[in-house]
Amino acid sequence: MAPCPDCGAPIADNASCRSLFDELLAHEYAFPAAFGAVHHLTVAAYYLQHPRGFSRAAMRGWRAIITESLDGTATPADFLRRARAQSDANVRIRERNAEPPEGWPRTWPMTVADAVVPLGEEPNADGHIRRVTQWAKAIRETLDARLLPADAQLE
Ligand SMILES: [Zn+2]
Repeated sequence: MAPCPDCGAPIADNASCRSLFDELLAHEYAFPAAFGAVHHLTVAAYYLQHPRGFSRAAMRGWRAIITESLDGTATPADFLRRARAQSDANVRIRERNAEPPEGWPRTWPMTVADAVVPLGEEPNADGHIRRVTQWAKAIRETLDARLLPADAQLE
């Protein structure tokens, strides 16, 4: 058991955050209601906690998805439209060797390890939606509470 260097999640030796993330995605494909409700949050939450190799524009986009989705000011369809517009405008998402901004959290109150189906729970859509929403809220609170340098505010 060693903590993930990016998000601090406790990770079993034969696992990784990426494998837990894949588990969440598989779960969403198995439960379309869960996919429709929170897939955008799952992706944004995972990458905000593993931002190495991504541009500031990408990070800004994920943070906006979490904020606007939790506030109910934008829908998954809006996010898709935005992603398409970004891609048409050739906004760079991947950025080789990009590191998160100075002061970006490396440990979080909730991680991908807390979002997977817990032992003893029968996989279902509602539990997944509840956990992912909780995860997104925790990320928002963590980032809002942190005084980051201007660059890291992603404005
Ligand atoms: Zn991690």
